[in-house]
Amino acid sequence: MKNFVLLGAPGSGKGTQSYNLVEKFGFIHISTGNIIRNINIKNKKLNILFDNYYNQGKLIPDDIIIKIIENYLHKIIGNLIWDGFPRTIIQAKKFEKLLKKMNSSINHVFYFKIDENKLIKRIIDRLICSFCGRIYNKINLLPKILWICNDDKKALIKRKDDNEEKIKIRLKIYNSITFPLIEYYLNKKKLTVINADMEKDKVWNQIMNILVKKNGGNK
Ligand code: ADP
Repeated sequence: MKNFVLLGAPGSGKGTQSYNLVEKFGFIHISTGNIIRNINIKNKKLNILFDNYYNQGKLIPDDIIIKIIENYLHKIIGNLIWDGFPRTIIQAKKFEKLLKKMNSSINHVFYFKIDENKLIKRIIDRLICSFCGRIYNKINLLPKILWICNDDKKALIKRKDDNEEKIKIRLKIYNSITFPLIEYYLNKKKLTVINADMEKDKVWNQIMNILVKKNGGNK
């Protein structure tokens, strides 16, 4: 089991590149954001998570996220893309322990570095599939049929937290709580910076180059 972590601000392109990694190499995409959104649909008792944290643009408490991840880890076999987890130093430390118990570890962290001014527009124009979570963009990543997911033909929706007010809160939280993870993984010599300002094919090329280097061509 290999573990690749995608780290970066909301809207930096982690979800889009995860989709490529799943398509091209059969990685399993674990997006904690998608998991939270699915829990909200299936378990109305946990709506409190949504109302008090997600919809406010705030992080879900570490102990809840870690329980969710623990549950997932037991069910999964394969090479994993972690998108949006870990997001705090506490999550990162706990994650290491959980992986160690499974004789596994983080293979590499890709940090999606991007100019913050570009993010707000990107997120405001973003649409996601209400069913599978695939990401589209009203300007530069259109579906084949308007507002319908290419994969499962379900409706595309706008996320409740993808508005300017909530994006500003999310970016503030990212800069204060998640950003320190970059130094954390740099110190562990596990992190490479990706220039996520580029268009998506060029971002993909950077990821490919690193994967090839790290694995000698064997993804
Ligand atoms: P984005 O990267 O655009 O912020 P995500 O779908 O990854 O979108 O996350 C959306 C929301 O889900 C976050 O604002 C937070 O409320 C919750 N969430 C996702 N992952 C985590 C996590 N690892 N820790 C705490 N909250 C999380």
